[in-house]
Amino acid sequence: MLIDTHAHLNFHAYKKDADEVVKRALEKEMLVVNVGSQYSTSVRAIEMAKKYPQLFAAVGLHPIHLKKRIVKHRDSEELDEIEIPANGEDFNYQKYLELVKEEKVVAVGEVGLDYHHLETGDNAEDLKRKQKEIFLEFIKLSNEVRKPIIIHCWDAYEELLEILKSSPVDKKGIIHSFIGNYKTARKFIDSGFKIGLNGIITYGISYDRLIKETELKDIVIETDCPYLTPGPHKGERNEPILVELVAQKIADIKGLTLAKVAEITTQNAKAVLGF
Ligand SMILES: [Zn+2]
Repeated sequence: MLIDTHAHLNFHAYKKDADEVVKRALEKEMLVVNVGSQYSTSVRAIEMAKKYPQLFAAVGLHPIHLKKRIVKHRDSEELDEIEIPANGEDFNYQKYLELVKEEKVVAVGEVGLDYHHLETGDNAEDLKRKQKEIFLEFIKLSNEVRKPIIIHCWDAYEELLEILKSSPVDKKGIIHSFIGNYKTARKFIDSGFKIGLNGIITYGISYDRLIKETELKDIVIETDCPYLTPGPHKGERNEPILVELVAQKIADIKGLTLAKVAEITTQNAKAVLGF
């Protein structure tokens, strides 16, 4: 059995056919965690989780949503440029506290730091300060409700490690879409976190060493759908059933069966997310 620990079926990309996509995942007996990136998508993730026993939710405010703009996302791993509209949401602790108390909410997230998408013209120091300030509020929230945290972090692993040291998260969590090297992964694992791997690892050999050096017990798998579609389907919209290709890549590199990778990563996800 596979768990997609980071999906966004709550996003606009599935507006027309979310139920169909969920159905395909349920036919494979999967569990899926839909992750919110702002208040509205967090609410939607909870609504979906209430509708299906196999769906869970995480609620949070992604760092790119702290400023209103269109985020153009392109990097060496992705051929197509995608545009993500960001709303510039003002964080409200009380509103998120209400959401995170919901039974089907298994984690706070996604929240964190994103220095990659700062643009020319941004007051970088100001935005970084704001990201940190709000991330600390979410750590507080996570500790208040005793639920783990799903962290988005891009180009800021050192800062993140500092924060986690000075403001520990009691229930730990997942460093989602991890793209650092194995030494950096080790530091997060040593502080109690799991490493979340997705379709990025299927794009080439860049992450083979990370996979080899990181023990399976420290890895969880995800799609981050609709983005980051695994290798052979690159360019298409991603969806939870394709998480199997992420598991397969890990199995190939580690010389294990797909069944073994599915079993252990599912155990890991259940342990960290507490269901
Ligand atoms: Zn995400």
